[in-house]
Amino acid sequence: MLEKNYDPQTAESGIYEEWMQKGYFKPDESSQKEYFCIVIPPPNITGQLHMGHALDITLQDIITRQKRMQGFAALWLPGTDHASIATEVKITEKLAEEGLSKQDLGREKFLERAWQWKREYGGKITEQLKKLGGSLDWSRERFTMDEGLSRAVNEAFVKLYEKGLIYRGERTINWCPVCKTALSDAEVEHEEAQGSLWKIKYPLKDGQGWVTVATTRPETMLGDTAVAVHPDDERFTNMIGTTIILPLMNREIPLIADSCVDMEFGTGAVKITPAHDHNDFETSVRNNLPRVCVMNEDASMNDFAGIYSGMDRYEARKKIVTDLENLGLLVQIEKHNLSLGQCYRCNTVIEPIISKQWFVRMKPLAEPAIKVVQEGEVEFIPERFEKIYFNWMENIKDWCISRQLWWGHRIPAYYCEKCGHLTVSRETPKSCGECDSSCFKQDEDVLDTWFSSALWPFSTLGWPDETGDLKRFYPTNVLVTGYDIIFFWVARMIFSGIEHMKEVPFRKVLIHGIIRDAEGRKMSKSLGNGIDPLEVIERYGADALRLSLVMGNSPGNDMRFYWEKVESSRNFANKIWNASRFILMNSKDFDASEPHACEYSLADRGILSRFNRTVDEVTENMEKFDFGLAAQKLYDFIWSEFCDWYIELSKTKLYGEDIEGQRTATNVLRHVLAGVLKLLHPYMPFISCEIWKRMPWYDGDIMVSEWPIKDLKKLDESAEEGMKAVIDAIKSVRNIRLDMQVQPSVKSKLVLVADKEHHKLLEESKPYFKKLAFAKEVRIQEDRMGIAANSISAVTHYIQIFMPVEDLKDVKKETERLHEEKKELGKELERARTKLQNDSFLNKAPKFVVDEERAKEAKYIIMLDKVNARMNSLTKDEG
Ligand SMILES: [Zn+2]
Ligand SMILES: [Zn+2]
Repeated sequence: MLEKNYDPQTAESGIYEEWMQKGYFKPDESSQKEYFCIVIPPPNITGQLHMGHALDITLQDIITRQKRMQGFAALWLPGTDHASIATEVKITEKLAEEGLSKQDLGREKFLERAWQWKREYGGKITEQLKKLGGSLDWSRERFTMDEGLSRAVNEAFVKLYEKGLIYRGERTINWCPVCKTALSDAEVEHEEAQGSLWKIKYPLKDGQGWVTVATTRPETMLGDTAVAVHPDDERFTNMIGTTIILPLMNREIPLIADSCVDMEFGTGAVKITPAHDHNDFETSVRNNLPRVCVMNEDASMNDFAGIYSGMDRYEARKKIVTDLENLGLLVQIEKHNLSLGQCYRCNTVIEPIISKQWFVRMKPLAEPAIKVVQEGEVEFIPERFEKIYFNWMENIKDWCISRQLWWGHRIPAYYCEKCGHLTVSRETPKSCGECDSSCFKQDEDVLDTWFSSALWPFSTLGWPDETGDLKRFYPTNVLVTGYDIIFFWVARMIFSGIEHMKEVPFRKVLIHGIIRDAEGRKMSKSLGNGIDPLEVIERYGADALRLSLVMGNSPGNDMRFYWEKVESSRNFANKIWNASRFILMNSKDFDASEPHACEYSLADRGILSRFNRTVDEVTENMEKFDFGLAAQKLYDFIWSEFCDWYIELSKTKLYGEDIEGQRTATNVLRHVLAGVLKLLHPYMPFISCEIWKRMPWYDGDIMVSEWPIKDLKKLDESAEEGMKAVIDAIKSVRNIRLDMQVQPSVKSKLVLVADKEHHKLLEESKPYFKKLAFAKEVRIQEDRMGIAANSISAVTHYIQIFMPVEDLKDVKKETERLHEEKKELGKELERARTKLQNDSFLNKAPKFVVDEERAKEAKYIIMLDKVNARMNSLTKDEG
């Protein structure tokens, strides 16, 4: 028996442990089942789960639970990400609170701290995933820096290096002066900003004039090594090859021709600063120009900056502009909108700086990765996100993978201490290939955190070893993630899978939106509008949170978080609980065998048919990943058709004298309840499990029960239609009684008029009208013979309903009441009309106030019509 009230806290606390102990999260490998696999997007160990995770986890759990019930050997593989830069930033901040820097601690001690952090926070996240009900196979849990995955990283690096797809070279990279590391293009966030464009005169050496160049970062001019113009630009034809004196530095630089220069832009002449600009770097390669870096790691000016050495970049900018002005070389300052690149971790404006880094050569990897999506081997849901993917992949630049950080996978490159020779190797080399030295120094840098997560779908399954898991579960089936990491992660997994496994990592990518606050703003720390999923779970239960994250949401779209929505999900849980409680309390000791079809009542046939259709609709929408729609269909069926109607209708038999009738009703109630609990299980695993446990006539646990399949024999269109007509008729009787304010204790005669062909249906429905339409007597006839003209009537689909007015109300009193109501409405209408005829009101009042008044007028007219109609029907003679 169920307790009177459902308490999610009590119910949810023990079940998860039980599931784990019974080994339900592990895929059943003994049987001949088909394999199904999802790998979790590993949460960062930087802290707490947020609402976005909760959505991510809920979606994956829904898919996994359904597949498990559909008979797949389903694996959902858990794990966490070391999140190199994000974690390092947090630890550095914590150290700063103790007055310590990274350097004070040294690499080894710092890493100890980082592992300590991992133990503390990694565990917390795991607990949160459990609270949400995630059916993850914890025996297979992985961490991006565990031994196996670190081996996978080295393997991938060495393989790519040996194929010439990884190289070390000087390039301008995005540099964060605060995090003091290189960043990949994906790690730079761009923001529109108001800046300036400074136009500066560069004098020619021969004293015959000057060229004017424009820049948004004047401090970089100290590192200029050329000025470039387009070879076809006639304005400069005679100057190409001449020498220019770089102002402030008095360094000689050439004026060169390069067809990449845009003749239309500015003056047509551009300064070339190869050490501080990506495009200029390319120009320097084509033209063999020197590269002068004028900044330090913290973006202060270095010794190559002459008298500006030691200044911060912005301080130097100010001084340089003043100096140019004093020299008469500043032509103009223009306001200029620019897109400012910022570090995605600390928001500092990044500085393109030349530096020796490790890169992945992207073109050869991107090509096949584009093809597999074009050819549908990997499918994005919704499809529109393919555009983001293609756009990124088609314009991809080489991927800078080295980071000047400590927390992460150290690059497996070793330099000979004696001759400097570089060896890339899975383990520390024994001896140098150039000399015979055996002393090596490993590269100081670590890898971009996404380098390891790119391998996640196969490294977690055991790669580079050829494990059974890898054979069974790769390629995985679905990847579920947010649109914000399509290029950080999804794209990199796809090309890594193709490169290392010769096979795509997953067949489908389900993209979901982000969760915004009730006003539609992004949830963020700075706004303080984030909502902790654990707080929601504590107040309303994990089931309510899960359902509210899914309902009304369609794939790929952002959604808003409303407490009211969670509340109504909780109410839904209570509704199911109460319905189940009723069914269990009234379940007599019948065996579970199905009754003969001939024993089914109209309501039984109707609900069984509707149930089977719901099975179909829910399953179909889930296959399409439209969990919002699937949940909505299920919700509507359970709430209205099953709880509000069928359970009420079944009472006519449950409480009746006929034992066979009781048995049939009980069986249908149990059958449909069991079915909807199964359909609901992926969404609300806890409550469905809790109720199922109290249904002793079903074996085993709901989590491993079979997913319902539509029973074609139970589909009965005419029963559905008939029930719908009867329910509509009952509803209209109830509405009339509500309008007339009739007390439930007042019963009335009901005359149902319909064509002969419907009489059988209505005959069968008599008990329903008696029970739910407050009828003391039900008469069925073909015409209106004997019906008083002043009867209250309603018309539905194919049934006309009549109720003698005396049964419902005292006619005299009702007439008086209507007169009174008519008078009041008349006054209100008059008041509204006077206002609307008043010019000064119409001219002065705000539009919405006038609109409101118009709406009132319209409403009063309708109400008045209703009252008039009611009065007419009362005064009609009996006929
Ligand atoms: Zn930074
Ligand atoms: Zn050597």
